[in-house]
Amino acid sequence: MTALNALDVIRTKRDGGELSDEQIRFLIEGYTAGTIPDEQVSALLMAIVFRGMTPRELATWTAAMIESGERLDLSSVSRPTVDKHSTGGVGDKTSLVLCPLVAACGAAVPQLSGRGLGHTGGTLDKLEAIPGWRAKLDNDEIVRLLETVGGVICAASEGLAPADRKLYALRDVTGTVESIPLIASSIMSKKIAEGTAALVLDVKTGSGAFLPPIEQGRELARTMVGIGEGNGVRTVALITDMEWPLGMAAGNGVEVAESVEVLAGGGPSDLIELTLALAREMCELAGVSLDPHDVLASGRAMDKWREMIRAQGGDPDAPLPQAKESEVLRADATGYLRRLDARAVGNAAWRLGAGRARKEDPVSPSAGVLLRAKPGDRITAGAPLLELLTDDPDRIPAALAALEGAIEIGPEPPPFRPLVHERISA
Ligand code: URA
Repeated sequence: MTALNALDVIRTKRDGGELSDEQIRFLIEGYTAGTIPDEQVSALLMAIVFRGMTPRELATWTAAMIESGERLDLSSVSRPTVDKHSTGGVGDKTSLVLCPLVAACGAAVPQLSGRGLGHTGGTLDKLEAIPGWRAKLDNDEIVRLLETVGGVICAASEGLAPADRKLYALRDVTGTVESIPLIASSIMSKKIAEGTAALVLDVKTGSGAFLPPIEQGRELARTMVGIGEGNGVRTVALITDMEWPLGMAAGNGVEVAESVEVLAGGGPSDLIELTLALAREMCELAGVSLDPHDVLASGRAMDKWREMIRAQGGDPDAPLPQAKESEVLRADATGYLRRLDARAVGNAAWRLGAGRARKEDPVSPSAGVLLRAKPGDRITAGAPLLELLTDDPDRIPAALAALEGAIEIGPEPPPFRPLVHERISA
């Protein structure tokens, strides 16, 4: 048998060949262990961006990423486990509402989450705006809280899919994020290692999405559903709209405040609609029969939220940090708001301090953008459209620059965009 080497693996993929299982395992194991250097893996990743992967290659690649670390064992949790993962959006705080809501419906929700990077926010960054709340839990605590409270949102431990941790950091700086097999294997390896029995994927489409065209969102959704089902995780995907921000707030503390509004029975209608659509899918996969709409209306999801926040050291009654400075952006014409670009709003929130450029950067709990109007609203010249919040007024010009060209006002309302475009199942 000939010895494996990284150069042959790169050449095979570069020339359009199919990698063997041995080659893939050699590569992932060697990269995780540090015996194959960044430059060789970068070259392979770029070849994958151009050549793609066959279904067998993708299955082996994902399995090797899962096996690069530990798998959380949730078999002792007595309730059915179900999680949700979103491919990342602007103003998308559905996780904050879904976890307590679906837990209050009777399932156990292990939400092992990440931090935000670039224009999309991170669930942990948002919850850390709550005084005292702790993202880091050990595996025993996760299992105990799933059993006693039913919902946990926490940081994924370093031991889960360590190959993805290294690969994702490398992809981020080598222009190799935008590849369907690489995104699908990255997301699914972490979710499968997390140990959930069922998973609902929220695959975003539109300007604020990773892969804006719907055809790409559809292919990503199908690929991830295939990986989940192939690994014994019941998986359904909704393709949902991210052409403009979800709800009326993008940032950290401001998104917590909006989530609490929904849990209290109020909140913006698009956020409620998407949350309930995802919650129904989660409950169906978990086999729990309570209707999330009724549970939300009953106040039990709010009780569960308070229990969850307290269980992780947070004070659900503590005031959220408020920004010191604000700047209102006003309409320059009368008409219908036709466009409010999600990616630009996400970038503005990031520039104001809510997001980070590098993963070690700190984020501001109080910075963000509040929407004072949504696409479809009729507005008059001079009316407020957006409110920019920050502690550092020097950040406002960059946020305003990020919003250039992002807003369109015209005589006709914009064409209707459904919030849920498609449902994809096995
Ligand atoms: N999120 C992930 O976890 N991985 C990707 O590749 C893209 C988004």
